[in-house]
Amino acid sequence: MRKSSDPRSPTASPPSKRCGPAWAGHYDYNTLDQNAIIGPDPEVTNLIFANGFSGPGLQQAPGVGRAVAEWIVLGRYETLDLSIFGYERIASSEPVLEKVVT
Ligand SMILES: Cc1cc2nc3c(=O)[nH]c(=O)nc-3n(C[C@H](O)[C@H](O)[C@H](O)COP(=O)(O)OP(=O)(O)OC[C@H]3O[C@@H](n4cnc5c(N)ncnc54)[C@H](O)[C@@H]3O)c2cc1C
Repeated sequence: MRKSSDPRSPTASPPSKRCGPAWAGHYDYNTLDQNAIIGPDPEVTNLIFANGFSGPGLQQAPGVGRAVAEWIVLGRYETLDLSIFGYERIASSEPVLEKVVT
């Protein structure tokens, strides 16, 4: 049966306001360059960033977890050097731009 565009018609599509269950939540977003902020704070001792993922945080989580664990245990990165994502770039407004994802 063909759908009617008249909303009063019994064959009309349901109004969009009748959408199904939904949810809302916090979206962690870095407005400087949409990349994660990872590593130690340059001033506050024992504060290590792992935030600001701006969308791809799940796929980056294994590498970030490993790198941050190395930093905590060794005081440096060992297998992955993520220093490019350090807080210093935020403080100096020097974005790290993603070259592959647009
Ligand atoms: C709609 C949507 C789609 C996404 N799709 C993808 C995708 O396809 N692929 C991908 O890789 N990533 C995706 N992401 C991004 C990914 O989900 C996030 O980057 C990732 O979850 C961030 O992990 P996180 O541990 O840093 O922060 P979160 O997962 O946000 O965890 C932070 C935790 O801290 C808690 N918290 C906050 N404040 C406090 C407080 N004051 N005290 C105690 N606890 C607190 C929160 O409750 C939360 O549990 C998506 C995100 C959204 C919203």
